[in-house]
Amino acid sequence: MQQEAERDSKRRRSWENDEGGVVWDSVAIAEAVGGEVIKEGASGSICTDTRSLLPNQWFLALVGTRFDGHEFLQAALARGCAGVVGLTVPQDWPRGFVQVKRDTVKALQDLGSSVRSRYQGTVVGITGSAGKTTARAMTALALQTQDGFQVHETKGNFNNHIGVPLTLLRMPCSSTACILELGMNHAGEISELAEIAKPNVRVILNIGPAHMENFPGGLMAVAAAKGELFATAQAGDVCVVNADDPLVMALPVPSGVRMVKFGTKEGCDVRLVATSITKGGCAVHVVLEHTHSQELGMLDNSSVISTVEFEISSPGRHLAMNACAAAAVATSLGVPLTSIGQSLSRYKPVGMRCRLEELGLQTFLINDCYNSNPVSAAAALQLLLSMHTLRRIAILGDMLELGAISIDAHKEILQLCCDLELDLVVVLGPCFSTAAESIAAAKILTYSNAEALADHIVGLITPGDTVLVKGSRGMQMEVIVNAIKAQA
Ligand code: ATP
Ligand code: MG
Repeated sequence: MQQEAERDSKRRRSWENDEGGVVWDSVAIAEAVGGEVIKEGASGSICTDTRSLLPNQWFLALVGTRFDGHEFLQAALARGCAGVVGLTVPQDWPRGFVQVKRDTVKALQDLGSSVRSRYQGTVVGITGSAGKTTARAMTALALQTQDGFQVHETKGNFNNHIGVPLTLLRMPCSSTACILELGMNHAGEISELAEIAKPNVRVILNIGPAHMENFPGGLMAVAAAKGELFATAQAGDVCVVNADDPLVMALPVPSGVRMVKFGTKEGCDVRLVATSITKGGCAVHVVLEHTHSQELGMLDNSSVISTVEFEISSPGRHLAMNACAAAAVATSLGVPLTSIGQSLSRYKPVGMRCRLEELGLQTFLINDCYNSNPVSAAAALQLLLSMHTLRRIAILGDMLELGAISIDAHKEILQLCCDLELDLVVVLGPCFSTAAESIAAAKILTYSNAEALADHIVGLITPGDTVLVKGSRGMQMEVIVNAIKAQA
């Protein structure tokens, strides 16, 4: 048994690691990127930032629209780099140098692809208009059960054409599952990321109007761009779909691909049966239905094979849906639902995402300042409605990057606030202020200055209130949160 485990672990070790990730020698780098070894260097992992470069790492000089990594070659040298992967070699360069012909970003992606092609573990790719980071963290937990997977996952928001290959490059050789967040703000981006990552399990959480500046074709164009994740799936892959989202359900899936449905509807493979707000977050009840279990070889005559209840320390049905998505991924990989529930109960909110904080006796703050778009703003307002509280106050900052639909989208959110009969709505930013002009409700207070709003709002919060603070990253709504907390 032990010998078998050792053999298995050796089989998976198709590369060596150092502290920074997968180790390369000059020839291996040149082969992967289609470049030329100008000067041999010691073996080491790859880094693209001289501020965090470790001695004996290779520095890959990325060239972007606002920066050129070649300006930092001397800094790389000073930090003891093994060598550089770049376009131009300075005269008398003393360390290794692999010259790339055209594009160092492409070179980074080629290195990421090379790691992926050698990786024998499972890759999970998660996209969606809202919830990628949360669902990624939950999926990592769900797979890390006792005797489960050795998980490597996206750090922070490293979810684009640079972040995804970098995440692959940092993968330890002991990893047996790699959970990747896949972000996009234009058509074709998900195809590009899927080509590098080749996920075995592909998740689309939801589709909504985000980054609309780059989608003049509207919501259907966003759906098509997200759908690239399914369109590029290979026979044998699993596509995990949100059955509650008609746009996700309408996406075509290639033949030979297994579909796993999660959501609240009948017929879901992994179904969210109930959620309720608790003092610390949210109680979640999930069941694994018969259809899915049959495919997994767990035959049974009842329709529900397994059921689990657990609590996550972040409130909201939308967060419970992410937990359900994580459970769908993990059960599709054979992890028992009860173990998944135990693991997910260790979930803690990531950064300023749906963080429930008690301000004082029966007075609560929902700190959701990390970001906002129409999908996540609507979800946060529904959460506010579901809170057991005396008064409900929403403090909303503008939702950015929405292009031509911006004012209409802000109007819809304000209309939702009215429909939900919130006690007080306070908005910050030009888009919400313009939108508020056409909403006939006296309860909307508009501000153009965060400090003025912060000064005023603290006097309006009374014991028994629940206050939601949310806005796009650029709106820096944490200023408001800090002011509220300072007064509490
Ligand atoms: P980004 O595109 O900025 O990386 P993301 O897709 O990774 O965002 P998160 O960072 O997990 O998403 O969450 C962003 C916001 O969306 C937070 O306010 C969070 O509470 C909210 N959110 C999380 N999951 C969902 C969901 N399933 N539906 C709607 N909103 C969600
Ligand atoms: Mg994210």
